[in-house]
Order: sequence, then structure tokens, then C-alpha cells
Amino acid sequence: MHTVTLIPGDGTGPEIAEATRRCIEATGVDIEWDVQAAGIDVMEAEGTPLPDRVLESVRKNGVAIKGPITTPVGSGFRSVNVYMRKTLDLYSCLRPCKSYAGVRSRYEDIDLVIVRENTEDLYAGIEFEAGKDDTQELIDFIAARGKGEIDRGSAISIKPISAEASRRIVRYAFEYARANSRRKVTAVHKANIMKMTDGLYLETAREVAREYPDVKFEDRIVDNMCMQLVQKPELYDILVLPNLYGDILSDLCAGLVGGLGVAPGANIGDEAALFEATHGSAPKYKGQNKVNPCALILSGVMMLKHIGEEAAAVRLETAVAQVIREGKDVTYDLKPYRDDPTAVGTSEMAGAIIKAMG
Ligand code: NAD
Repeated sequence: MHTVTLIPGDGTGPEIAEATRRCIEATGVDIEWDVQAAGIDVMEAEGTPLPDRVLESVRKNGVAIKGPITTPVGSGFRSVNVYMRKTLDLYSCLRPCKSYAGVRSRYEDIDLVIVRENTEDLYAGIEFEAGKDDTQELIDFIAARGKGEIDRGSAISIKPISAEASRRIVRYAFEYARANSRRKVTAVHKANIMKMTDGLYLETAREVAREYPDVKFEDRIVDNMCMQLVQKPELYDILVLPNLYGDILSDLCAGLVGGLGVAPGANIGDEAALFEATHGSAPKYKGQNKVNPCALILSGVMMLKHIGEEAAAVRLETAVAQVIREGKDVTYDLKPYRDDPTAVGTSEMAGAIIKAMG
């Protein structure tokens, strides 16, 4: 018996979370759900989109699955999602991008894994507003150290990259490669321009790579990486990236396999793991039983593997793949035309997946 925190989220989150819960339960794995509401729907009653009880539950159970959460304007949080990853030190963001037959895409047989650093880089949230005294002080400090002249009206965002965080994310990528029999890790950076930050990342990645002689290692400059992925994605396997490049390339790779509807993800730390789709809360479809639940269901597949329920994970993924391949009981985004009247709803697609598991 496993206890898992279930955060339904907001917008279309509760609909896809319910579909996911049903699919996971249908595998027969014994899970007790610790349901924790969060997001804009609890803001009024609890004064925050992320009450402490939610983080406490994830810490206690060590495993959580979460629907998307809208980033509210003016809540004090830059993003609830970013805040959760940072506070729980979920330093590794794992996003497999895999082709499923039946999903319309320009590419076939893509099988890439993005490993994105989750805690630092430009996402650290250290920013200086244009025209403020602090910002002027910083501009003066930089000029006084001979580090360059910054226009006085500029805003500044800080990009911290540490050897520690770089080491643990690259190690995570290599460990994942070994555990999943993958052949190659590619570190992505812009060290030719950002010699200090990305330079440190690359140097650390090279050091770590020497500890794993059984896995091939190479590096790519991020702009070249984008072109390579569009032209010959089959040459790549696991990509390990600092936070910002990881965010951008996750969407690029989701695009290669046919879009956000089938892009699952996990945020993993030493103490806890939080499974969630790459996509957001798609608020315009809230309450319409319309959006594709597969990205969260496939995140559930990752969760089942994480808790040691490999056989259940394979059964569920096989059923998802079958329903997508057949193309009948699928949501609007998986039909040839977006207004196809034969598209089914979120709940019905989950029902078809459960049926396919037999
Ligand atoms: P989004 O991912 O919600 O939507 C982008 C596009 O994809 C929209 O056209 C949407 O309708 C479509 N889409 C998304 N999920 C889909 C699904 N499952 N099936 C079919 N179509 C789907 O991105 P956005 O509009 O930029 O963000 C909306 C909100 O979600 C924002 O407040 C954002 O901050 C938040 N967000 C949350 C997370 C998270 O919880 N981890 C991630 C990204 C964005």
C-alpha cells in the first residue's frame, strides 16, 4: 500500500487529475490518496494558493501527483509551481518526449529525455527593476569593478549557476541513463558566451562524465542543439540542461512528439518526487470535460515506476498507447481536425484507457 499526495490543481486540473486517478486505480495498485486542494480556487478561503498543509503532505508522503496550477497575479508567488519545486528542493525535472503512433507529428520514433535543472539559473527570481535605487547601485558597482557599462535605465536579472547544483543534475542524468539502459548524455549550454556561469556548468558536466565511462557523453551549444533537434533528433538520447534552456527545449521536444497533450513530467529531489504534466491549466476549457488527460496519466506512469510498480506502469502506458493509436476514443487535440464531432471528453478517454487495460 502506497500513500500518495494528490493535488488536483485548478483550471482543467481537477478534470485531468480525476481521469488520472481512475486510470491509476484501474491498474490494481493499492494507493491511498491524500487529496490536497491548491491553486486559485483555495486562495479566497485560505489566503494563499499554496497552504502549508500541501507542502507538509508532500514532505510526509514523499510522492505526489499534481494537476496544473494557474499562476495568480499578485499573490506574492512568482509561480506556485516554481515555488514548490524550489521549496521541496526537487532539483531534477525529468521530461521524457516519446512518439506515440496516432499522434500527429512531423517526426516518428522520437525517444528523448530532457533532464532540466530546477533550482537556479535565471529562474532564481533575483531581479532588479529598471530605475530603482538598488538597480542603480548594482550598475555602479559593476562599472566600478571594470565589468562593463550598463545603460542606467536597464532592468537586471541574475543568473546564478553553482558547481554543486550542476554536479547533482548531471549526475542525475547519468544515473538515469544507467538505470534505464540509455546510451548517451548530451550537456547543453552557451559556454562560449557565458564563460563564467555556463562555463562552470560545462566544466562540472565534463568532470562528472568521467565517473561514467560506460555512458557516452558530449556537449552542444544551445542554439546549435535547437537546430539539431529539428533536423536529426534521432541522434540524441538524454539532454541535461540548466533551468532556462531546459524549459525552452522541453516545449521544443514536446512539439517534436506532437504537442503538450502527451508530454509528461516529474520533479524529483532526494526527499520527494512530484509528478505533473508539462502543460498548464488551460483555463479556457475549465469544466468542459474537453482537454487531453494523457500527459498527466503518463506522468502517473512515471510515478508508478518511481514507487516500484513497474508492471502496472507498463500496463497503463500500453493502454494509453493503444487508445491513441486507435484514434477513436480520443480528445479533440488528437483528431485530424480540432472541431471533429467524434472527439470524446476527458472522462471518456480515461474510460477507454481503463477498458484497454482489460
Ligand atoms: P497551457 O499549457 O495551459 O495552454 C497552452 C495551450 O495548450 C492552450 O491552447 C491550451 O488550451 C492547450 N492545452 C494545454 N493543455 C492541454 C491538454 N491537456 N489538452 C489539450 N490542449 C491543451 O499554457 P498557458 O495558457 O501558458 O498557461 C495557463 C496557466 O497555466 C498559466 O497561469 C500558467 O502559469 C500555468 N502553468 C502551470 C503549469 C504547472 O502547473 N506546472 C505549467 C505551465 C503553465
